[in-house]
Amino acid sequence: MQAIDPATLMLAAAMTGFLSGAFSLMAAKAFAGVGASARDWGHGTLTLGCAALLWFLTPPLPHWVGFVLGNSMVVLTPVFLLRAIYCYEGDRLHKTTTSLMLALGLGSIFSAQWAEAPTTLAVAGIALAHLMFSVLGGWRLYWQGRRSGSVYCLVIFMVLVIVGLATLARLMVLLFGEGAAAVAPVANSKTQIAAIAVITLLVIAGTFGFLGMVAERSRALILENANRDALTGVLTRGAFYEQAERLLSKTEAPLVLLMLDIDHFKRINDTHGHPTGDAVIRHAARLIQRNSRTNDLVGRYGGEEFCVLLPSCGLVEGRRIAERFVQEAAQQPARVASGEPLPWTLSVGYVAAVKTEGKNELFRLDTLIAAADAALYEAKRQGRNRAIQASQAELDSLVRQHARLPAGQQA
Ligand code: GH3
Ligand code: MG
Ligand code: MG
Repeated sequence: MQAIDPATLMLAAAMTGFLSGAFSLMAAKAFAGVGASARDWGHGTLTLGCAALLWFLTPPLPHWVGFVLGNSMVVLTPVFLLRAIYCYEGDRLHKTTTSLMLALGLGSIFSAQWAEAPTTLAVAGIALAHLMFSVLGGWRLYWQGRRSGSVYCLVIFMVLVIVGLATLARLMVLLFGEGAAAVAPVANSKTQIAAIAVITLLVIAGTFGFLGMVAERSRALILENANRDALTGVLTRGAFYEQAERLLSKTEAPLVLLMLDIDHFKRINDTHGHPTGDAVIRHAARLIQRNSRTNDLVGRYGGEEFCVLLPSCGLVEGRRIAERFVQEAAQQPARVASGEPLPWTLSVGYVAAVKTEGKNELFRLDTLIAAADAALYEAKRQGRNRAIQASQAELDSLVRQHARLPAGQQA
């Protein structure tokens, strides 16, 4: 085997950093919704590439270029990468953390160069900034990985564990070993060659892991958006059906289905115009979501009609929730563009279903929707602005009708 030339290896590391940066910046454009974190990751790997290039060029460039600029880049790298990890979860890296990492790294480099502080201090400062990156980033990725079970997350978590352990080892040698000389990459040493090769591999693995995570998140966001109604942000009718069918097929617990319809909505449209009508629909959706539990399914059934499935909910609780929707609507006028409060009311039809041994007919979504719809019609008939429970006679009749039809087909 040919002996590896560390300088050439350093150039290869620089190219790897640049290539990873280019891929990440391209991914930032391609992956909607998570672009900012891919961009931060790209900046992190680009600064690492710049550092490697500066070290490759020192000499012929003067020593301070490699020492001050190269090492400063190496301090910026973990700040960008940690920002990327935080940003991925929609958080911001706290200013104090950023300032502390920069102060530790840059402060020690500048004081070693210009205030005659020992080189050991610079090595320790940079190592501490890297240690903060691996501990804080690793902690985040650990929880992120536990939640998502993502293999990409595991890859990048492992990269951070290796960075953390290597940095700790570097600090130990520095403090208890032979000082800066022991950890400084001595030209042509096996340690230097191994370190550059490992760092290059870690950049490749880390970028692979992070961009994999970004692609996963972007795909989930696209799917999530496709399931959401553009006007209100609640589930589309199709997504509601799909998720409600899935829930009905696996749950054993009682549940309640509600159909909600805004009263005299045509009048609102006719009097105030369609944009105001849209604002009232959005207001109604927000009110319904605010008064629903985390696991409830809220969908837009059509125009100004909504459907809500309350899993693990009995009749008494279901009635309370249905009546609360009606009361809140009457008490909370919609705020429309003119600034005027616009009073509106809501009618609700609801049905409760309990799974009993050998009697699952009520757990058909089409039966439940037809029953709640009939109750909603009754609420309208009785004067609107009220919640009405589906009658047992109506339910029995629907169960008999639907028992003769294949699932999903309306009577
Ligand atoms: P009721 O109390 O019996 O429900 O009377 P209503 O006037 O509300 O009657 P209905 O529920 O049939 O009204 C539906 C109207 O909603 C008809 C349609 O013009 C309007 N609509 C449907 N979708 C939209 C929408 O996205 N935006 C707006 N502004 N209006 C819509
Ligand atoms: Mg209506
Ligand atoms: Mg309607």
